[in-house]
Amino acid sequence: MDSASPVTVPDRYVGTVYLLHFDRPYRHARHYIGWAKNVTSRLALHEAGQGARLLQVVQAAGITWTLARTWRGSRSRERQIKRMGGAARRCPLCGVRPMPDRSATLDAGWARAYRLRELIDLWWETTDPVQRDRIDAEITALTESTPCTPLPGVTSPVDSLAAWAA
Ligand SMILES: [Zn+2]
Repeated sequence: MDSASPVTVPDRYVGTVYLLHFDRPYRHARHYIGWAKNVTSRLALHEAGQGARLLQVVQAAGITWTLARTWRGSRSRERQIKRMGGAARRCPLCGVRPMPDRSATLDAGWARAYRLRELIDLWWETTDPVQRDRIDAEITALTESTPCTPLPGVTSPVDSLAAWAA
């Protein structure tokens, strides 16, 4: 078998990972994560007090729950999500907002960094003072108008500029 070919999960193993949010905590528990082939029938089962010990005691304590989120996947996805921990951090009912698109910010940062390098190269390549003044002005505008993101291992913004210029 070609090692590059994607591993396909047989359909019978594909179901839904579901996150239940409790209307109030039971001891330290605020959530339950489970996996089911059919979430609707599994939730009906939970409502009837079956299928999960934790939900039985939660129900006995008079606590209700809400289906907060689902992920499509196999049981290994369930284990993966549980291993990541911090159900509250993935629960929309706990005030989680979608992560900001960091890649856009990083791309802009890299674009600035590359432009800065380019400008510095141009500055060294030219001997024309007028041209150098123009390049100086753009470097100043670029570095003063944008927040400085330190490069990995560099703590001070001033150091990171020096690292870019190096
Ligand atoms: Zn929650």
